[in-house]
Amino acid sequence: MTALEQLAELLFPNVTKTPEDYEALYPPRNLKEGARVVRIAPSPTGYLHLGVLFTATINYLTARSTDGVFFFRLEDTDKKREVDGGAEDILAGLRQYGLEIDEGYQGETASIGDYGPYRQSDRAEIYHAFVKALVLQNLAYPCFCTPDELSAVREKQDGQKLRTGYYGEFATCRSLTPEQAMEKIRAGLPYVMRLRSPGDESHRIKFDDMIKGTIEIPENDQDIVLLKTDGIPTYHFAHAIDDHLMRTTHVIRGDEWIASVPTHIQLFRVLGFKPPKYAHVSPIMKEEDGSKRKLSKRKDPEAAVHFYTEQGYPPESVMEYLHTIANSDYEDWRRCNPDKPRSAFPFNLKKMSVSGALFDLNKLNDVSKNVIAGMTAEQVTDAVIDWARDYAPDWHALLSKDIAFTTGLFSIDRGGAKPRKDLAKWSDVPAYAEYFFNAPSEYPWPENLSAEDIRTILKAYLPVYDPTQDKQAWFETIKALCPAVGFCPEVKEYKKQPDAYKGHAGDVSTVIRVAVTGRRNTPDLCGIMSLLGKDAVAKRLNAALNTL
Ligand code: GLU
Repeated sequence: MTALEQLAELLFPNVTKTPEDYEALYPPRNLKEGARVVRIAPSPTGYLHLGVLFTATINYLTARSTDGVFFFRLEDTDKKREVDGGAEDILAGLRQYGLEIDEGYQGETASIGDYGPYRQSDRAEIYHAFVKALVLQNLAYPCFCTPDELSAVREKQDGQKLRTGYYGEFATCRSLTPEQAMEKIRAGLPYVMRLRSPGDESHRIKFDDMIKGTIEIPENDQDIVLLKTDGIPTYHFAHAIDDHLMRTTHVIRGDEWIASVPTHIQLFRVLGFKPPKYAHVSPIMKEEDGSKRKLSKRKDPEAAVHFYTEQGYPPESVMEYLHTIANSDYEDWRRCNPDKPRSAFPFNLKKMSVSGALFDLNKLNDVSKNVIAGMTAEQVTDAVIDWARDYAPDWHALLSKDIAFTTGLFSIDRGGAKPRKDLAKWSDVPAYAEYFFNAPSEYPWPENLSAEDIRTILKAYLPVYDPTQDKQAWFETIKALCPAVGFCPEVKEYKKQPDAYKGHAGDVSTVIRVAVTGRRNTPDLCGIMSLLGKDAVAKRLNAALNTL
């Protein structure tokens, strides 16, 4: 056995498989030309946040628009920062937003696909086999430097205004002979495994990022850590191994990784792999005090995907909105194709914002109003009741008591060419629907009318009120009572001679509206009155009359 072989055996006595074995186990995928294999690879260090949902959406769209594969890999190598239930939350969130995965980690005991395991903590033996192979080629070595020694080096570098890190003359363990390394291992010294970087900082590498364009950065010359003391890989190393063996064609991820691309490309080359294509997604930005900053997990509640669930935004609305910030021509496309499924949109990575799309809650509300306006009353009823079960228990009881009534209230002014757009989210429902369940306690009467006028109108209306009337007959009744109470039945006529009347038919219906609902503005009043029913309406009209 050569000294390197002895060292490799001492480092990895249990590794029996070789890289070739894994190449055979995970063969290139048999997909049609142009199909892209992409993934979302979150770390379970928190709950699902908007940035991950956005990046997942971009990956999903890329896979779907090329008949490719979208898979989920759980990057759980940082056990210290792991949050209980984080992985499940992320998985549930992706499912909730309709980002169905084709392959990947599905929970503690489940996974789909032939390229797993899809959880990094289950892949130790694979990483070790590849490091062992690198040791045999003298491309990786154990490093015994202690944290204290490493910080002393950093201080020295800082003092001399040099680049910090483990490279060149500072990479002291690089020059240990296999025999010296073995002696230290046998003596029980802890170690990490490092790459023997073939890079030269004075050379630059050039790569084409599919979102950001051509990027040039100095080559990596740092002997980066491949395996930590506990044998767990670093992100960099796991990325190269996993994305190669899982046959990822396009790595679409947050742009905080751009600076690491030279290291990643170097790793792919050293390992004999073809590097994937990269696309780095700019973070979602927020405007604050006139300037742009990154949406922050710490500062902005809307950065957490839970926010949208709690507020009751339909997942459909959030998705629709994320599409508008993914490709700026999405909105025009939607305007021209209001009824097409989103999947028909020609998504293109190249049309993504380089500087970072701006997140705007008002815009989301507008998008969501359109989405909700396009839903059926039954869909709205189901979704609102689901939302209220968790976030507004009192309303859950009210809304589920009589489903036909609830569906009825959401049917008013729904459909047709110009549906009303009152609701942006389910938490708007209590304010919107209050008067359907409770008689008004306040009456914002029109200011131009006196109490006497209002009383006269209500008194005149009570005997002619007919709950069986349709919208047209209902309004005819209002118009018909106008002359007797001093109002003009036609607005046009009224405008010609405003002094001749106290107001017009619209004012009369506003009085009835305020008496029945406590509001000046509501959807179709005839619909509201017929849903409330004769007794309730008569009671409300009389109650209003009694306050005057
Ligand atoms: N686990 C990495 C992160 O959460 C994934 C980056 C990647 O997609 O490669 O940032």
